[in-house]
Amino acid sequence: MLNVILCGAPGSGKGTQSDLLVKNYGLKHLSTGDLLRSEIKSGSSLGKQIESLIAEGNLVPDHTMIHLIEHFLDNLEKDCPGIIFDGYPRTVDQAEALTLMLTRHKMSAVMLDLYVEEDEVIKRLLERGKVSGRADDNYETIKQRLKIFHEVTKPVCYYYLTRHNYFAINGNNSVENTYAQIDTILQLVQK
Ligand code: ADP
Repeated sequence: MLNVILCGAPGSGKGTQSDLLVKNYGLKHLSTGDLLRSEIKSGSSLGKQIESLIAEGNLVPDHTMIHLIEHFLDNLEKDCPGIIFDGYPRTVDQAEALTLMLTRHKMSAVMLDLYVEEDEVIKRLLERGKVSGRADDNYETIKQRLKIFHEVTKPVCYYYLTRHNYFAINGNNSVENTYAQIDTILQLVQK
């Protein structure tokens, strides 16, 4: 299986690159953000608990996220060619839990870290906010999401770097250029 963890600041293009990986590699896309937003939309009790956290740009608690991932992995189709983890893990505790869960399922994953300059990320998110209807795509919340990204999520990159499971991608240029870098790495990883 080809399991990919896409890391990168909000607005770094994880969703866009995931769409291309689904199309070209047939991978299954697990976007925790999408999953959480559909919980909110459904009006479930979990949705009600997490709505304000997301709207304020804060993280959903680790135990909730780990439980969601556990459920996803337990229900994975046997012939799944691989998974794109988009938005998970976002804390070192989530990363450690993922390592244990993947090991239990006899799987592993590589991290692709999309680096995009902060000014560019803010510009993209404000642009997206005009059409996304997302409660968190406004300037104040974007700033909070970026703060959390640097303080809490960036250490997750070092977690994979020190385990030799890490590739950095320059995501500042076009979608095609970013995808070409990802494709080259995945071709190598598969050999
Ligand atoms: P982005 O990468 O643009 O910030 P996402 O759609 O991945 O957007 O996530 C939106 C929000 O959902 C996050 O700001 C956070 O509140 C919540 N979220 C998503 N994934 C996680 C996670 N792994 N752990 C905690 N909270 C999460």
